[in-house]
Amino acid sequence: MSGQEVIFHGVGVAPGIARGIVFLHHPDDEEPPKRKIDDTEVAKEIVRFESALIATRAQILEMQQRIAEAIGAKDASIFDAHLLVVEDRTLIDEVLRNLEREKFNVEFIFAEVANRYARTLSEIDDPYLRERAFDIHDVTRRIIRNLLGRSAKTLGTIDLPQIVVAHNITPSDTATLNRQLVLGFATDVGSRTSHTAIMARSLNIPAVVGLKDISQRLHPGEHVLLDGTNGVLILNPTDQTLWEYGEIEIKLEKVEEVLTGLRDTVSTTADGRHVILSANIELPEDVPLVVKAGAEGIGLYRTEFFFLNKSDLPSEEEQYAAYLAVAEAIMPQSVIIRTLDLGGDKFLTHSHLPAEINPFLGCRAIRFCLERPDIFKAQLRAILRVSVVGNVRVMFPMISGLSELRQAKEILEGAKTELREEGKSFNENIELGIMIEVPSAALVAEALAREVAFFSIGTNDLIQYTIAVDRVNERIAHLYEPTHPAILRLIEMTVAAAHGQGIWVGVCGEMAGEITLTPLLLALGVDELSVSAGLVPRVKKAVQTLDTKECSRLLEETRGLLSATDILARCEEVAQLHYPELLN
Ligand code: PEP
Ligand code: MG
Repeated sequence: MSGQEVIFHGVGVAPGIARGIVFLHHPDDEEPPKRKIDDTEVAKEIVRFESALIATRAQILEMQQRIAEAIGAKDASIFDAHLLVVEDRTLIDEVLRNLEREKFNVEFIFAEVANRYARTLSEIDDPYLRERAFDIHDVTRRIIRNLLGRSAKTLGTIDLPQIVVAHNITPSDTATLNRQLVLGFATDVGSRTSHTAIMARSLNIPAVVGLKDISQRLHPGEHVLLDGTNGVLILNPTDQTLWEYGEIEIKLEKVEEVLTGLRDTVSTTADGRHVILSANIELPEDVPLVVKAGAEGIGLYRTEFFFLNKSDLPSEEEQYAAYLAVAEAIMPQSVIIRTLDLGGDKFLTHSHLPAEINPFLGCRAIRFCLERPDIFKAQLRAILRVSVVGNVRVMFPMISGLSELRQAKEILEGAKTELREEGKSFNENIELGIMIEVPSAALVAEALAREVAFFSIGTNDLIQYTIAVDRVNERIAHLYEPTHPAILRLIEMTVAAAHGQGIWVGVCGEMAGEITLTPLLLALGVDELSVSAGLVPRVKKAVQTLDTKECSRLLEETRGLLSATDILARCEEVAQLHYPELLN
């Protein structure tokens, strides 16, 4: 192995060890670099620009030809509009003018001009011009890639097993990747509860985030070792390091063997209290992992992932097929289908929606659905239609209060009425639940509990909104504390409100999969834990090892503690005592 060993420290967000070569991923929407140039460089930049336009034109023509051969000339004609962009004199002249005047590198100048063009067109209320804005956007990315000498490789085109290194990996990237060939993720930014980390855990892919400038330091083809459990990336690992990790892997395999043996056992505490243990999924392809893990059904199906990376919104029929596949694959167990949670850090590729300054506090999830009842109703109809075949429940995300819940319920009733009128059957008794993930919902949980059949606490957002700490911002990750007394109080209030009205309550945020916190969650009285499929066996083992009375004692002790760190330390002591082998 060549080169000096270098160790980088980040945050481990999906456990496991991976060894392999680096695949450097540059997302298409990455900002091009900005560099001042002097007078003598202008001519060179113009030549670069012209070559990039010629290369782009050739690529579009080639793509058009391939598509015409594969599916016909009519479909290939959409590229005519792309060709018009590369030949657009107004656009090209403006780039040349600005280049002479502002004197920055041409990719920066070009991106500025093209983005302004696209923005102006997309703001005009005319579907044709809006489409032209998308064309400009597509072609712009292609031209910039050519200027930067980058290939158009997406994670979906990886053809060898490799470790993906990037500044950031978005949920859209993860939704397209080839899971067999991605051995691990390493990123500059990110946090435990970003949707990318969640996805890595679901896929059982080791991941380390928060590695600062790792995407600048590593090069394609370099050898690295990734330790997702301890948050470490090692460049050019020595033979000694590889041997040490080999030993760790042998130990981990033994633990895994024991955990695999638990597949058909139940998640019941040592003194006989059963807590339902289900799994979270993002895509229909995740279901086999859920079954293999020995979960009791799907406690959270994040349907929005099916909407990412699509040029159009999926139709009711497409959604029906996807939800049906999940419901059938998990039968006789149940699936809780959560309605669209777009926004925050999950965006549509070709969104017509304006960018927001605070997307996590903006038109996200149920707010978007109430603004677009057409999209919402199509999804509800698809879910309802699947409910005759499978064991299906429906759940609304981000409910902040009663009136929002009632508006959403009204649309659900509207969808039911339509289906009845059309003679299409559905389960008339389909259960409706809501996520409790906004502090205001936890505070009025009693009123909400009267209107639904179950609650599922989304701790990822509940913590973000309660402590005012952006869940994807690694700079303030130290403030993101699940054991903050305020969080425990809100969970306790939610459980009390649910049980007071005779409904069950689960936890489906990442906190449910933290085995250090299992004793606390059991003591808080939750009825269900829904975790990433890969974590199911660990949580099951933790539950089986614990005793309810001891958990209650722990909760009582934490009431006297006001610091999140002290509470966490007590939880760690209990976990160490009962299942030390699972913790390291
Ligand atoms: C949550 O907020 O805890 C949750 C489960 O939903 P998501 O992570 O998809 O926002
Ligand atoms: Mg959430």
